[in-house]
This record gives sequence, C-alpha cells and structure tokens, in this order.
Amino acid sequence: TTFAEFGLHTPLLARLTELKYLQPTPIQAETIPSTLTGKDLLAGANTGSGKTAAFALPILHQLVSRRATTSAKGNFVSALVLVPTRELAKQVADSFKSYAVHLNGDIKVVAAFGGVSVNTQMLALRGGADVVVATPGRLLDLVSSNALKLSQVTTLVLDEADRMLSLGFTEELTQVLNLLPKQKQTLLFSATFPDEVRQLTQALLVNPLEIQL
Ligand code: AMP
Repeated sequence: TTFAEFGLHTPLLARLTELKYLQPTPIQAETIPSTLTGKDLLAGANTGSGKTAAFALPILHQLVSRRATTSAKGNFVSALVLVPTRELAKQVADSFKSYAVHLNGDIKVVAAFGGVSVNTQMLALRGGADVVVATPGRLLDLVSSNALKLSQVTTLVLDEADRMLSLGFTEELTQVLNLLPKQKQTLLFSATFPDEVRQLTQALLVNPLEIQL
C-alpha cells in the first residue's frame, strides 16, 4: 500500500514525502481507508505504531474536503482529540501542524492542556479552531468559560484511552462526552482494554472497525 492509494489531498502527500514516510505503517494501512469513509474505529495500538498519523491524516483530509462548504463562525471546533497528558497534547498538536504545513494555513490546530495559563489558549481559540488537542480537565475549563463550543464536533479521537481513565479522568471525560453531538465519527485508541475502557467503547462507538496490532 502507498499513501497515494488512500486518495489523500496532494498537499498532505507532498508533506509525507518530505517527512520520508515512504509507506504506511500497518495501523495506517488498516485504518486510514475506513476512517476516510467516516466509520468509527476501535484500535489496540501502542506508541510507536504510527497511530498519530493514522488519525491525523484522515482528519486533515476530511477538513480540507469540507472547507469549501462550511464557514463556521464563533468558537466552534470540528475535530476534538482527547489525550491523557500535556506532553502528548503538545506532541499530537505538533504532528497535526506538521502534516498540515502545505495546507496554506487553512487548518487551525490548538493545543489545550493544564499547568499553564489559560489565557493564551483562550486567545488561540478566538474564532474557533479546526482541531483542538486537549486534556479533559482543561477542555472543560475552556468550555465553561465559553472559549470553546463543542456542539459542532464532527470527529472525536480518544488517544491512549486506557491511560486517560487510569489517570482519573473518567468523570471529566464523561462530562466532555455529554457535551458532544450524538452524531459524529469516533476513533478510539488504547494500548490495553480493561473493563473501564470496554464500557466506554460500548457506550461510544457505533459499528466500529476493530483492529488489534
Ligand atoms: P506514533 O506511534 O504516532 O507516536 O508515531 C511514532 C513515530 O513514527 C513518529 O515519530 C512518526 O513521525 C513516525 N511515523 C509515523 N508514521 C510513519 C510512516 N508511515 N513512515 C515513517 N515514519 C512514520
């Protein structure tokens, strides 16, 4: 398989060539075509598998495709990526930004995590964002101060879902999920599948593609 076969927009393919991503990793090959069709995903995958690109590339592709027809105003976000730690939030946001460099600033990516002043993140969210990569607690702070609205989310990613739950984010996660539209695409990645993660997947995913690597 090649990235070109997925039909990704040319600016994304050009970036992958620059990054020397010569071919998709197994998780990318198995999930990107399905994710591009809008299907939910349940993936057992570890760090190092290339899981970030597995969700970031189809999300960016879909955002570019929709750009022509949507003109959302206000503090809305289209794709929400929830992660357990601030380090991962920064890393995943940087990956999105890197894949998007040839999209001419068309796609706005904002990282939102705790431990730093909320003001910079609030400013960054003015006028909305295409992609927000957030830890659950800080996301809720931003929502309750009206810096961000979740009612237009079309794609939700839960990255490292097992760590998110084991770090005690269950309550916050539930609150966030309750604020999201019922109809959306959900992609869930987890290294392990304890009961808590299974319950979450059952509540959240609709007829997902399931893969275990
Ligand atoms: P991840 O599992 O998302 O943390 O990615 C692990 C590393 O693999 C990151 O440094 C990525 O830049 C890199 N990577 C992801 N996909 C590919 C690919 N198809 N070819 C080469 N490197 C990749």
